[in-house]
Amino acid sequence: MREIVHLQMGQCGNQIGTRFWEVVSDEHGLDNSGNYVANVDQRTADLQLERISVYYNEVQSTKFVPRAVLVDLEPGTMDVIRSGKLGALFRPDNFVFGQSGAGNNWAKGHYTEGAELVDSVLDVVRREAEGADSLQGFQITQSLGGGTGSGMGTLLISKVREEFPDRMMATFSVFPSPKVSDTVVEPYNSVLSVHQLVENADETFCIDNEALYDICFRTLKLQVPSHEDLNGLVSTVMAGVTTCLRFPGQLNSDLRKLAVNLVPFPRLHFFMPGIAPLTALGSAQYRNTSVHELTQQMFESKNMMTAADPRNGRFLTVAAFFRGKVSMKDVEEEMQKVQDKNTAYFVEWIPNNVLSAHCDIAPRGRKMSVTFIGNSTAIQEVFKRIGDQFRSMFKRKAFLHWYTSEGMDEMEFTEAESNMQDLVAEYQQYQDATLENEEEEQEYVGEED
Ligand code: GDP
Repeated sequence: MREIVHLQMGQCGNQIGTRFWEVVSDEHGLDNSGNYVANVDQRTADLQLERISVYYNEVQSTKFVPRAVLVDLEPGTMDVIRSGKLGALFRPDNFVFGQSGAGNNWAKGHYTEGAELVDSVLDVVRREAEGADSLQGFQITQSLGGGTGSGMGTLLISKVREEFPDRMMATFSVFPSPKVSDTVVEPYNSVLSVHQLVENADETFCIDNEALYDICFRTLKLQVPSHEDLNGLVSTVMAGVTTCLRFPGQLNSDLRKLAVNLVPFPRLHFFMPGIAPLTALGSAQYRNTSVHELTQQMFESKNMMTAADPRNGRFLTVAAFFRGKVSMKDVEEEMQKVQDKNTAYFVEWIPNNVLSAHCDIAPRGRKMSVTFIGNSTAIQEVFKRIGDQFRSMFKRKAFLHWYTSEGMDEMEFTEAESNMQDLVAEYQQYQDATLENEEEEQEYVGEED
């Protein structure tokens, strides 16, 4: 079996990670202690258990333990998990934590406090990896705006990559928004992290608090969205994008195949995830969704978990995972229609760049749903937004002493910023590229000869 080791780091990383395990355990028929208790027909039971070892270790024939490592630089978040309803789910010695905290300082996570703790984390990661039959790779949940998930998270990513260079690294990374948080240095922490993710991650699911907030406020009509509310969306997305990894199927069935289909150039691996339907859970039962509606909705910018409008860019690649009782024929037809009507929004130089897959098991409380993963050049809007916030402070070197006093060099800020600017330029270059201008170039060369 192709196992994945899951890592969750920092406050946000642990909060969204734990929600992920809650949803996924439920979908695989496990109770809060990891016992298989599902009361379902044989076919559903087979589906639930066939690939359960991608994410869980089997300790007895009906008891499963998440292959998860939980990390923080302070004990608070872990205490909450241990005393919460999933407290008995995780392996107790997979909790690794410090006492000092990272104080929203990337340098503390990456170079000082985090660097001291990282070896004890690697010990646990190594033990989990060695216990696997045929490890496919790692996934990490983290925020980019804080200190632990971002600073120490990217340190761990680089260490894991060093030790397991041929395994995949997927990240679920939460981008900051002033609508949700009031820490001013978050753009610094985020740009320093993106700099690392560009080089060391194979696929990054960009979960943008700005978009989550807007969905909660505008679509779900929540007046003051809490982290809990935002994380409900995150867990739906995470369960959605991992559907193909967790349940039997042909397409995109592991992290590498997913990357092969979605990543045309190694640096351009920042995905815009989305879900449909997007109704508040309570009202879902009053609406009858169809494949047609799901397909329409999932391409809309208000359904994206990243605050970027796909109509301002072009899709390099797209993957869609439908769940529930849907006909694959309807799916193929509807997906084709969307592409035919919107040819300008899909680069024409990657033929068949939209792939759909299907899983019978719908998320709890729904008849059908779809998860969307777009590799869109419009993602540059997010990098521009964070980059602008970064530059306005960096120009005056505001708050820099918090980082230099941990031993960081100003140079690293300059490099990180310029790497992110390059990334934006690369997206723009492929957005502008057409079949024709490539041919023109070739003709021109031909004439010269
Ligand atoms: P760390 O513990 O040092 O990694 O720091 P945090 O995870 O608290 O990082 C702060 C950033 O994460 C800010 O941008 C917060 O808005 C965001 N954040 C913190 N907790 C959550 C959460 O539970 N859900 C979401 N969506 N964002 C969070």
